[in-house]
Amino acid sequence: MTVSTPGSAWKIAADVLDPELPVVTIADLGILRDVTEDDQGRVHVQITPTYSGCPAMETISADLVEALTTAGYQHVDVEFVLAPAWTTDWMSEEAKVKLAAYGVAPPGPVALVLAVRCPQCGSLDTRESSRFGSTACKSLWVCGSCREPFDHFKAH
Ligand SMILES: [Zn+2]
Repeated sequence: MTVSTPGSAWKIAADVLDPELPVVTIADLGILRDVTEDDQGRVHVQITPTYSGCPAMETISADLVEALTTAGYQHVDVEFVLAPAWTTDWMSEEAKVKLAAYGVAPPGPVALVLAVRCPQCGSLDTRESSRFGSTACKSLWVCGSCREPFDHFKAH
């Protein structure tokens, strides 16, 4: 197996999908902070968890190691960087569009989080039904217009 050309480790790492939201990559979400390669072909990846209790980070770490070793990198280590803390501002506009298409209400500015638009029908007549949705990163909301429940990716 040939080692990929220098500089391609970032691209491989950036293509890893979020295990909970498999329509967006970890680069889209702003989780991927840095990828460095040394002249021995060792790759060091830094990721910042979206939420301190997110079990997805272990999966993301394993997926990163797998993607990079499959690409020919023999030594891959993944470091969790906790400071500065991840914010939804790091999420790309493209990620927010993809999340909306996937049925997850994308985060708005923190101050506007009480007005969450229903990803199904676009209504703003929504309310939070549970602080925790399918994962700790998301809360569960219900739409008053179409009565559909949906996940809201918490802004924090
Ligand atoms: Zn609705």
